[in-house]
Amino acid sequence: MNIFKKLLALIQKDSKYENESRRMLVMLRWFYLVFLCYLLIFQCLMFFGGSHRFSWLGVISMIVVGVSLMCTYHFRIRANLITSVVVQLAWIISSVYLYGWDSGVQHFIFVLMALVYFSIYDTLTVKIVVTVLLFLLRLGMYFFCKAFDPLVPLSGSFVMILQVCNTLFLFLQLGILFGTFSSNIESAEKKLVEYNKRLEQQASTDPLTGLWNRRTMLNYIHQFQAQNPNALYVIAMGDIDHFKRFNDQYGHDCGDAVLVWLAKMFHDVIQGRGKYCRWGGEEFVFFFPAMNGDQANEIVSELWINVDHTGFVWKDVKEHITMTFGLEESDYRSDLNDLIKKVDEKLYIGKEQGRNRIIY
Ligand code: GH3
Ligand code: MG
Ligand code: MG
Repeated sequence: MNIFKKLLALIQKDSKYENESRRMLVMLRWFYLVFLCYLLIFQCLMFFGGSHRFSWLGVISMIVVGVSLMCTYHFRIRANLITSVVVQLAWIISSVYLYGWDSGVQHFIFVLMALVYFSIYDTLTVKIVVTVLLFLLRLGMYFFCKAFDPLVPLSGSFVMILQVCNTLFLFLQLGILFGTFSSNIESAEKKLVEYNKRLEQQASTDPLTGLWNRRTMLNYIHQFQAQNPNALYVIAMGDIDHFKRFNDQYGHDCGDAVLVWLAKMFHDVIQGRGKYCRWGGEEFVFFFPAMNGDQANEIVSELWINVDHTGFVWKDVKEHITMTFGLEESDYRSDLNDLIKKVDEKLYIGKEQGRNRIIY
């Protein structure tokens, strides 16, 4: 079990070069390992079932593939990719030359084509050129086999076993390739979705308090109006009284902390009964859907009393904080901009009358 884990860790070992994809290297190592297995089986088939001869081509290929596998730990991905294509190509050409078209080794050309197409290291032109060359090579090999007999002719039953073996390993190699690159795309897509979500979050919220920003609130209200054209709702606007003195007296950090503290209080008091946003500076807008003015006034009063009674502590000093609110109920003809304007005017009246109150 331990050895198995160590082997797996060895296969999964990261590239020693920065900015190189580990996934690609791991894919190449699996690719070589499958190739080695294939060569071993091919060798056994040759010895026991085919020619009863030791296939030097098989032995040499196994050594070359083994060395190529070691190369994945020392060289860059691009070099390894080229090596894998050259090694497999050499194997295909020499096998078809020795054992003929019936050996079915030529099908591995499609693996090479997939390998070249999935490689991010080559341009489209290179890929097209390689495709044309592979196409010509396959055709060339076919006509060569038509014209000349194989050097090592294979018996009918042996050809059948070899075809099964080739098909199996062809599917294995293609499976490794497609599996690697489709999961590459999946993880890239996942990252993109998460990134978009983060962007959306950043664009819709206020970074300091985490509250919705003005844009998000307006969108939300417009959406509510579109979906519930006859529903009542209430808009309230709250402004911190003499907020500037916190900045002046204790510094900007203290002012920021007051805003964060209040945002949390809105959350605790309103508890899903309405929506709220940072409208700008030290002003907040509250939206109470499907409610009349009296109902919303109760919630805003709760909030107003809580702010007034709790007190904000900054460096062991308790500061009294108050807020002034304007509150306006919608009617069926209300335009949102007019409503906000009215709420703002009421807030201004509250400030004029001495602050720390709700104008409803
Ligand atoms: P009033 O009772 O009339 O509302 O007085 P006020 O001091 O609260 O209002 P004023 O408009 O005179 O000042 C608001 C201050 O809020 C000015 C600005 O520097 C400060 N402010 C706005 N946004 C932020 C912020 O994100 N952080 C901090 N610390 N201060 C802010
Ligand atoms: Mg203020
Ligand atoms: Mg203000």
